[in-house]
Amino acid sequence: MPIRTLVWGENIHENTNDVVRGIYPRGMHAAIADLLSQDANIVAETTTMQEPEHGVTEEKLARTDVLIWWGHKDHGGVDDAIVERVAKRVWAGMGLIVLHSGHHSKIFKKLMGTPANLHWREAGERERLWVVNPGHPIAKGLPRYFELENEEMYGEPFSVPEPLETVFVSWFQGGEIFRSGLTYRRGAGNVFYFRPGHETYPTYHDATVGQVLRNAVNWAYNSESHQEILTAPNTPVDKAIEAIVERGGKLTSHPKGV
Ligand code: ZN
Repeated sequence: MPIRTLVWGENIHENTNDVVRGIYPRGMHAAIADLLSQDANIVAETTTMQEPEHGVTEEKLARTDVLIWWGHKDHGGVDDAIVERVAKRVWAGMGLIVLHSGHHSKIFKKLMGTPANLHWREAGERERLWVVNPGHPIAKGLPRYFELENEEMYGEPFSVPEPLETVFVSWFQGGEIFRSGLTYRRGAGNVFYFRPGHETYPTYHDATVGQVLRNAVNWAYNSESHQEILTAPNTPVDKAIEAIVERGGKLTSHPKGV
């Protein structure tokens, strides 16, 4: 069964900035979905922040295997209840790929537990992405390095937790470096942060970026759902695996108390 992927676009710059509209006339989310659709194993749908419940309803999330998140201008406008909903789906096993300025999205910061700050510069400089983990599934089929002629610079330090794996490290023309492809596991969910994707450059028309995104979706997919991770059940004395006698002080009088 193909991997059901939902591409979430903030969809603001495309409607307010002529440069962005010129590069992505159907929206950045549509360009990302086009790249994913080159993989017969992926079925890509798109939605935007302007849809009811930001396009991330319970029903839609329930049939999403991997969610891709691109936001920049209005992270604060994303409803906290929706962020909580997405986090629960990730913990239960949904894959999440956070792109570029999504490093400051509520969902990414919640899952990281850190500010996720970095240095930046918008100068259209060259980015060279080094594959530092060539055996990783997200690096499959990639050269030793690849370049994007025009990108925004993101520089270290990037205040995120130490990742599970580092797949890419970027060098920028101005001299900075950045860990630009990082994996995490949160609950049963696989999370990948991928740096490129500034809205005024044609990054999501780049063939190699497309390969990375397709690889990332395949890597992030988890066929299992772990709803049990969302509950904290009490095991009463008489249900203990080994027979025990209750003793000592006690906070709860009812087995359901926590
Ligand atoms: Zn940017």
